[in-house]
Amino acid sequence: MSNRAFNFCAGPAALPEAVLQRAQAELLDWHGKGLSIMEMSHRSDDYVAVAEKAEQDLRDLLSIPSNYKVLFLQGGASQQFAEIPLNLLPENGTADYIETGIWSKKAIDEARRYGNVNIAASAKPLDYLDIPAQSEWSLTPGAAYVHYASNETIGGLEFDWIPQTDAPLVVDMSSDILSRPCDVSKFGMIYAGAQKNIGPSGLVVVIIREDLLGRARASCPTMLNYKVAADNGSMYNTPATYSWYLSGLVFEWLKEQGGVAAMEQRNRAKKDRLYSFIDASAFYSNPIKPSARSWMNVPFRLADERLDKAFLAGADARGLLNLKGHRSVGGMRASIYNALGQDAIEALVSYMAEFEKENG
Ligand code: PMP
Repeated sequence: MSNRAFNFCAGPAALPEAVLQRAQAELLDWHGKGLSIMEMSHRSDDYVAVAEKAEQDLRDLLSIPSNYKVLFLQGGASQQFAEIPLNLLPENGTADYIETGIWSKKAIDEARRYGNVNIAASAKPLDYLDIPAQSEWSLTPGAAYVHYASNETIGGLEFDWIPQTDAPLVVDMSSDILSRPCDVSKFGMIYAGAQKNIGPSGLVVVIIREDLLGRARASCPTMLNYKVAADNGSMYNTPATYSWYLSGLVFEWLKEQGGVAAMEQRNRAKKDRLYSFIDASAFYSNPIKPSARSWMNVPFRLADERLDKAFLAGADARGLLNLKGHRSVGGMRASIYNALGQDAIEALVSYMAEFEKENG
């Protein structure tokens, strides 16, 4: 029995215990080779096989069509905010962006450094409690692409639908990738920082349709050029080898669990339990419209914020870690990614009920 806590951190987030155990078992002597995978050349046959298997498992999990490249890059999701316009936005072109919270806003601010950005829709007039319907968006004819964040990790606002656009759809899926099935063919490009549902930080996964490669502007740094990365199997330089390996272990674990369809069932049950508890309580609240509520990041508030500190201290004492909301919004947030099971939700709900009884 392990005495690991329930970790509700938004990222770097909980990893499956079985994955950590396997990494531990393989750490000093990977498959009898006498060295750690961390100490191995990224060009060795052994490492390349590990890297390729990770890619294939991800392709299997998301049924990624063969006309898409899968890239394992560095710089996190934030670097993609610049990389996307450098690769996909011609200097005199326009890109459409949908603003639904802090991360999509960061993507917008960065893209503006490189070209013309049209905010085609914003959740601001809805107080970030709902996602504007596509019928209200003002998309630019001939836009280079349309960018949105499918799940706002801080605000807890998630699309439960895929926009339909003429321009290639580019999506920041950092915090909801692999949480349920998604139709990759609807997107020009999907990207996700690894440290939530994929693996350790240090890696960002990019899934890009092949016809979008080779459009980078001349000034795009070589290291940020998707085509260069694709042509070199994401090994133009030394990749984040350990993060890539560990992500591969997570993909194997996901397949063993029944893949993203099984995750969807599990995640639906988890979020339903937590939101219905919050909704039934007069002490806790989450004002987001139910259809736009995040499955992975559940922000909530206590009736009296003066109790926040005591709530967090009590949670910590019970091994319910990292429930503090993002510093920009306060309150609480439970991030309940794939690695957390229903037992974590039950432990949280029972603590919340107890705290409400004592303080409500
Ligand atoms: N986009 C989203 C939706 C995120 O949640 C995050 C990180 N929390 C980022 C982008 C930035 O990721 P990174 O720290 O890997 O740059």
